[in-house]
Amino acid sequence: MNDAVNTVAGPITADQLGRTLMHEHVFVQYGGPGADMLKPGPQRDEIVSVCCEYVSKISRFGVKSLVDPTTVDLGRNVPLMVEIATKTGYNILCATGIYSTATYLQVRERLGNSPDAVAALFIKELTEGINDTGVKAAVIKVVTGQPVISEAEHELLLAAAKASVETGAPIITHTEGILGDKQQQILCSAGVPAHRIMIGHSCISTDFAYHMGIVQGGSYLGFDRFGMPGMSDEVRAATLLKLIEAGCAAHLMVSHDSVWYWVGGPKIGTGPYKNWHPANFFERVIPLLKQGGAADEHIQTVLQENPRRFFSGAKP
Ligand SMILES: [Zn+2]
Repeated sequence: MNDAVNTVAGPITADQLGRTLMHEHVFVQYGGPGADMLKPGPQRDEIVSVCCEYVSKISRFGVKSLVDPTTVDLGRNVPLMVEIATKTGYNILCATGIYSTATYLQVRERLGNSPDAVAALFIKELTEGINDTGVKAAVIKVVTGQPVISEAEHELLLAAAKASVETGAPIITHTEGILGDKQQQILCSAGVPAHRIMIGHSCISTDFAYHMGIVQGGSYLGFDRFGMPGMSDEVRAATLLKLIEAGCAAHLMVSHDSVWYWVGGPKIGTGPYKNWHPANFFERVIPLLKQGGAADEHIQTVLQENPRRFFSGAKP
């Protein structure tokens, strides 16, 4: 068990994580951040100020840490995350991995068409650092779409598994609310312990049997899109409550998948995105969960105990 957890400002222990949101993006720009988004300047100042404002908002609810699974092709901006973490004293955990299949194929080709070289890149980012920043990733992010897992996605899952087995880093996935059970099977067959996997966007599904299958397989379910348009939080909360009632609280983690500064994307916290911000779980969802019978202890388990266990490598 490796108890050191990489944040963008250096290693901490899993106990120091505290309340943790498992999937938020401080900054997204499809195709990677442009040069002017990486360097200091008026635009960077504006982005930093927007993000620091959100950190201060969630700090009021005792949130100490945030996992930002933005991959390189979604605009992962390491200097920006370092600046926000340093300014606020807040823990930001960043990711290696790849979001789109097209990127995976490009990266693989660039690295001599070798899936093993892709795994080696992930390992380098987890153990030595991302590019020349010295900032180490804490998690590996992988993606599958629908209706089936493609050949390239399968290969990407195996590269992630290899990097996870070699480094002990946990894996966070993207799903379309289906195929999380298949992701679990593929990753576990490749040697990743089930409790080092969070099946992301599980709240898109309301299928209790699907959720229970993943829990019984030993992984975590990410209810990580609270506030996102397309489904009401009442539905997500009801699905979560059913799992809490079934005794699965030790397998649940939460977040919003909110994007605090999205180049070319919507501005969260306004109009149709009014609830899609990182304080929504505390302001609107916890009251819903309590009304439905969840105890403070369940909420603490989901927000603090489970992230601590997930990153420490301890079993639920
Ligand atoms: Zn996301």
